[in-house]
Amino acid sequence: MNGSGALYLALDFGGTKLTAATRFAGGSGWAAHARQVSPAGGRMADDWGLMVALADEVLAGRKAAGIGVSFGGPADFQRGIVLLSHHVPGWEQMPLAARLTARYAAPTLIDNDANAAALGEQRYGAGSAREHLLFVTVSTGVGGGWVLNGQPWRGSSGVAGEIGHMVVDPDGPRCLCGKNGCVERLASGPYMAADAVAALVAAPGAGPLLWEKSAADLTRIDGRLVAACAAAGDPLARRLLLRGARALGVGLGNAANLVDPGLILLGGGVTKAGPLWWDTVRATVRDIILPEVQVAIEPAALGDDAPLWGAAVLAAAAADGGRRV
Ligand SMILES: [Zn+2]
Repeated sequence: MNGSGALYLALDFGGTKLTAATRFAGGSGWAAHARQVSPAGGRMADDWGLMVALADEVLAGRKAAGIGVSFGGPADFQRGIVLLSHHVPGWEQMPLAARLTARYAAPTLIDNDANAAALGEQRYGAGSAREHLLFVTVSTGVGGGWVLNGQPWRGSSGVAGEIGHMVVDPDGPRCLCGKNGCVERLASGPYMAADAVAALVAAPGAGPLLWEKSAADLTRIDGRLVAACAAAGDPLARRLLLRGARALGVGLGNAANLVDPGLILLGGGVTKAGPLWWDTVRATVRDIILPEVQVAIEPAALGDDAPLWGAAVLAAAAADGGRRV
């Protein structure tokens, strides 16, 4: 941190948390950082009010030269508009960039959280100094963002990177999106847990450790418990965790064959499942990629703050008056 140079305001509207931070141009780390839980059952106006209070707190009366926003849902970068939130009602078609610019008299750029996280990792995290990368978060959902030639790649309608709904098993189970056998349907924490519960309902003996650790209360089974029981040798948990890891590996391998990013970074809660999961993802990618394709599969470095770091990059780009970051 230093006291000179432009001040950038970075905002992260996550699914469950709101975060605001400031950063000086050329400084290292955050000048100020504030986070609050998004109220359960809240609406857009509640999140907006909380975020403005956090932003005012971290700005402490100073003026931002630019504002960058990571939004946890579909957002139109070109128009600065939030399309909707899957968690909070009232965000539909919200002109968030214009609204922030009106309030803080600073140019604003917004993007979805996966693109922002990819950008954050590329500039400040595990992808530092790489021109190309694919960032994938494997958590309650599976989302992805590309950086190609040093710039976010959003696609022709802003939805590039949807690896979570890449179909890897057309005969697989039905996903919320309406298709069968998506990466997210097989590899995300809640879906692995739901499949474990269904299997235990059908045959309680299929996963003795899952049964024991959940104390026969199947509502306590989540992705984390599936991963822990898989590591401890539970056959059902192991089958589901490795099925998810293979599904993800097929998706990543195909993405690598198509785009040749050289580096894929994985973040999110499921990536904490341990070496069994990582080894399976990497081995599957090796099975899928062509012999001439080189790709490293590595953990992301910035954790929950990756989208916020990306927002800081967007803030600097907004201050420079450009759309290139
Ligand atoms: Zn799907």
